[in-house]
Parts: sequence; structure tokens; C-alpha cells
Amino acid sequence: MEEFVRQAIHDGFTSYGISSHAPLPFPTRWTLDASAVGEYLAEIQRLKNTYADQIELYAGLEIDYLDAQHNPASDYFQTLPLDYRIGSVHLLQTPKGEIIDIDTPPEIFRTNLERHWKGDLQYVILAYYEKLMKMIDRGGFDILGHADKISFNAQSIDPHVTQSSWYQDTMRTYFQEIAQRGIMVEINTKKYIPYGVFFPQQEHFATLLARGIPVVVNSDSHRPEAINSGRPEALRALSETGFHHVMELHQGQWMAVPIELD
Ligand SMILES: [Zn+2]
Repeated sequence: MEEFVRQAIHDGFTSYGISSHAPLPFPTRWTLDASAVGEYLAEIQRLKNTYADQIELYAGLEIDYLDAQHNPASDYFQTLPLDYRIGSVHLLQTPKGEIIDIDTPPEIFRTNLERHWKGDLQYVILAYYEKLMKMIDRGGFDILGHADKISFNAQSIDPHVTQSSWYQDTMRTYFQEIAQRGIMVEINTKKYIPYGVFFPQQEHFATLLARGIPVVVNSDSHRPEAINSGRPEALRALSETGFHHVMELHQGQWMAVPIELD
């Protein structure tokens, strides 16, 4: 984490948040283990103190909505001393009860779709948004993570799927619900440099603006050298859509900060 902080200072960030994937009730190779959460928070506190005169640091977690028990609103996550919480869906349950990650490379998504859902793309997409709607209904988080992450893999199966009327209807209801709850939406830039795509995809930016949904630009980088990757491009795209502000944490408060383009 210290490497990320040093990179953030080097890149001119004035505030920076760290949000590991939160523990799940089973081990994975991509989540923080529950037994390491204390150490994780203590290390962020140490970094806050060490770099206090150079950058504001914030402790977050990206928390999965797994089911009614394990989600951002769970007592466990609500009582952790976090500065912010990101709510995300990565995992879907199959009809047989297996838990499958949909946030994978497209080839793996294709294999899983065939193996666990008999290739029914519409079913899987609707199950993904249904789960997100449940997460929004329960709340307990500040930022909705990569709001349409499944769209990239779905388009690798059917390039026109996001233009279908049922998909567009789903997105309309979804963003309406987000706006009503006053949740911030992440503009996730992780795949912008390699694939030219933001999450949510750029075609939804106008909807976010029209509905008054505040946005936070996040790189979801997983690597120190990528913490600013795609961020200038996202700010430009937001500005071209008509956004004048993005949300940032400063002095412990979420603030609407004017977009400054280079
Ligand atoms: Zn994620």
C-alpha cells in the first residue's frame, strides 16, 4: 500500500483512498482475508500519519453484495472504522448454488456462461442487475462500483446486447433507483487504456448527469503505476457530457470538486 501512496504523491494527488476487496465468507485469491482486516486498517493508519503533510489518505473497502447475509449493509462492514465503502457485484449464484465470478476475462466468461447457464446471456445479465438492485435497496455504501461491469463480457458474446430494448429498460430503472437513493457512482477507468471502455460505459454519462447522480473517478488499478490510468480521459469525457464537478474526499467530507482539464 505504501507503494500506491508514494505513486499518488508523485502523480500529484491531494487525497487518495485505498479500497481492497473486502473479505468474503470463503477464501479467494483476490480478496483480503478476514483475519488480515485489522492489520490492513492499522497499516493505512500508519500511512496516514507518515504522509500527513503530503497527502490525505482514506481507508475504504470494496464490498461484494453476495447475499442477504453478506453485503455492504452487514453489521460487520458497518462497524469497521472505514472512511468510505464501495458496493460491487462480482459474483452470481448458479441454479445449482455454485458461486461464479462474472468479472473475468471474456474467454472465461464465455466458458462459465455455457457451463453454468446453458449460454443464456439475457438470464445472466438480468440476474446481475437484479443483484445490484438488491444491493442498492439495502444500502450501506457510499459509491456504487463499476455499475455495468458485465456489459464488457456480455458484448464479447453479443456485440449488440446492450442496445436491446430489455437491456435499455433495465438500465433506465437501475439509474432511476440509484438517483433516488443519492448514491455516488464510480466512473471506473481500469479498462480504458487497454479497451477504450469506462464502467458505466460512456453512453450512460448523459443519464447520470440528467438524473443528478454524483460521480467519482476511480482507477481500480490493482498496480501502483496505474493509479492515474484513464483518469484524464474520464474527466474529459465527463466534461464533454456537461459535468462540471466530480466527488472527492477532502478533510473527511465528500465534496463536489470542479473538473480541471490539462
Ligand atoms: Zn470490483
